[in-house]
Amino acid sequence: MSNVRTAYLSLGANLGNREETLRKAVQRLAAAEGIEIRAVSSLYETEPWGKTDQPRFLNVAVGLETTLSPEALLAKAQEIENALGRVRHEHWGARTIDVDILHVEGVEQNTSELTLPHPYMTERAFVLVPLAEIAPALMVQGKSVAVWRDAVGEKGVTRVKTSDWAI
Ligand code: ATP
Ligand code: CA
Ligand code: CA
Repeated sequence: MSNVRTAYLSLGANLGNREETLRKAVQRLAAAEGIEIRAVSSLYETEPWGKTDQPRFLNVAVGLETTLSPEALLAKAQEIENALGRVRHEHWGARTIDVDILHVEGVEQNTSELTLPHPYMTERAFVLVPLAEIAPALMVQGKSVAVWRDAVGEKGVTRVKTSDWAI
């Protein structure tokens, strides 16, 4: 189908049972109408970025195909954040769950609601290391994810679990 697009998401959690929350988020994405999960990276423990005086995160990258518009995908991501108990909304602060849309095939936009590709994805090892595991050749701003990952390095990012997600 021509209206199917590949998209990549970054999921992070640093409060509560982080792995369980990430697993539930992936399961909710898999159960959503118009979303087919294609890949889930290993689980990575990562140092907080931006605001560093908070617990370490667990992060995963998810690859999917979707018939949803980018805005509808964001609405689904936010619905999942709310359902899993994200209460605080402090920018770059601690959170039960954060679901960011990194990239949607063929989409470049910058609105107040949704910027694609995600504006910080090329600077963040906690995004690039998991993403490079599932989409090393994906082109973002003229370079592959693997090249961006090599530029940023893997400091502060530790693989803690191989992907065994039941999706
Ligand atoms: P960052 O976006 O730097 O990772 P954050 O995840 O802490 O920071 P949030 O508080 O979760 O930021 O989100 C703030 C707003 O960002 C959301 O309400 C959403 O409308 C907007 N936003 C813009 N682009 C994106 C994107 N690509 N993915 C997710 N949210 C986005
Ligand atoms: Ca984020
Ligand atoms: Ca976010």
